[in-house]
Amino acid sequence: MVKIPGGWFDMGSNSGSPDESPVHRVWVSSFWMDRLEVIQEQFEKYQLPDPSHFKNPKNPLEQINWTDAALYCNDRSRAEGFEPCYDEETWECNFGGNGYRLPTEAEWEYACRAGNGTKFSFGNDVRKLKTFAWFAENSSGKTHPVGQKKPNPWGLYDMHGSVSEWCNDFYSEDYYKHSLEKDPKGPDKGKEKVLRGGAWNSSAESCRSAYRASDPSINDTCLASDAIGFRCVRATPLRGDPNAPANTSTGEDMTKENPSKKALKTGFVYDDIYLEHKTTIGHPEAPLRLVAIVERLKATGLYSQLFKLSPKHVSSKWLTMVHTPEYVERAKESCEGGVGYLDSMDVPISPKSYEVALAAVGGVLSAIDAVMEKKVTNAFCAVRPPGHHALKDKAMGFCIFNNIAIGTRYLQKKHSLTKILIVDWDVHHGNGTQAEFYDDPSVLYFGVHQYPFYPGTGSEAEKGSGKGLNYNINVPLPAGSGDADYVKVFKEELEPAALSFSPDFVLISAGFDAHKDDLLGGMKVTTEGFAQLTQIIKEIAEKCCEGRLVSILEGGYGLDGLAASVEAHIQVLMR
Ligand SMILES: [Zn+2]
Repeated sequence: MVKIPGGWFDMGSNSGSPDESPVHRVWVSSFWMDRLEVIQEQFEKYQLPDPSHFKNPKNPLEQINWTDAALYCNDRSRAEGFEPCYDEETWECNFGGNGYRLPTEAEWEYACRAGNGTKFSFGNDVRKLKTFAWFAENSSGKTHPVGQKKPNPWGLYDMHGSVSEWCNDFYSEDYYKHSLEKDPKGPDKGKEKVLRGGAWNSSAESCRSAYRASDPSINDTCLASDAIGFRCVRATPLRGDPNAPANTSTGEDMTKENPSKKALKTGFVYDDIYLEHKTTIGHPEAPLRLVAIVERLKATGLYSQLFKLSPKHVSSKWLTMVHTPEYVERAKESCEGGVGYLDSMDVPISPKSYEVALAAVGGVLSAIDAVMEKKVTNAFCAVRPPGHHALKDKAMGFCIFNNIAIGTRYLQKKHSLTKILIVDWDVHHGNGTQAEFYDDPSVLYFGVHQYPFYPGTGSEAEKGSGKGLNYNINVPLPAGSGDADYVKVFKEELEPAALSFSPDFVLISAGFDAHKDDLLGGMKVTTEGFAQLTQIIKEIAEKCCEGRLVSILEGGYGLDGLAASVEAHIQVLMR
């Protein structure tokens, strides 16, 4: 079996048959699914008569009615020591059971799509269907042994063709209009059960991921009963469950051989170059901050579970999306010229600082690319110098280049995304970021910070200007605010604003200087508080943009609090 990770997906299609619309967002909890359709020799194992028309032990079982498929699930459960899911009188399914059952329609489509919103799991090009499925154009009018065609990205075979598969749900043409959001299970009553996936006699159109069928006699696929089979699913066992199907004969964990394993990971940007930006002796923004973070992640074992990312080379084209060419040049000359400060006393620099500042931007761009290429689900950038105070033409507040602002422009120009949400929870107001997008409605800036405090900006009255009016939200909080205050702000102000904005990508200016033990901030946020804030933002990203999120380190100056908070933050990102 393949372990299917839980996740959100868009169910249905607005360009298919009327019963496939409206497209609606659905959460499917993790489950195990048979890699292959049930074949005839498996059925005979339980002394059940093989009803198939095209006899061959390795071919899919067909001419099977729904009840007999459910009965097989129960027999298989008993044989392997699991609790049967189906009541053999009412045929109601116990979803809490640990035995085999038929997939819900949502589970089936989610697994078939394997993360792809396209017509088929391999894209929209119908010419490729031959490599993935047996259907009317290549089947020669009969079934074939299962598992011969290419699997989908999650390692499932024959989802698009071979035989159509029974689902657990009753069919209803308009179910999608009022489907549940979480683990929908179809209508309570109905005449027919749902069939999914094309069959050996189907048109290419009815092999699409979103295609739905029920009564074989009335749909346009001319599904005869010898084109109907099934495969089983099981609930994901709790960790450590000795009954995990990894031990069974067909059991295999998706993470073992599946190349999309990486898509489950959280990226981590770090490079030793970041230690080469030297500030003055005793300065809180010191290389030791990153050393503390990396040591902590290694000590707790998280480090080895992260997908490591290195900073990419950044061309000046991206820097000047945000900064003036004169400023970039001045930064370079000041650092390399051995001047001790850039623009003001609060930005100490060393000869390599320009190179390091470029690498900080490069780290953010790397993380963005990795998320967009689906190498990782989300990423944390352990970079320095920080960036959110840096202005168009001026260094400020330990910051040289505005990493998050450049990342935002990069998402829009390089990856053609439109709407970006920036959440800045650093204890200091992100004045540089605010200034960059103040009149821009494509970027929603949400800043929560201690106020009044450095840098002096960030009042509630700063709401944006021109077309950007109301796309800049500041929530100033008094010194001494803690977890409950922050969570309240996130729930009551960030969440509704973000959901109505519906971003294509979420960026976090993750400063941890609101931590109760911080050297500079006056707030009382705990490590657990940062985990809660992360969870809220992560859910926003999951609801709006498939979880696409990159978090960028800003402040955080008490080494223990910083390292523990980053650990808690990353743990939530990895969930
Ligand atoms: Zn700060």
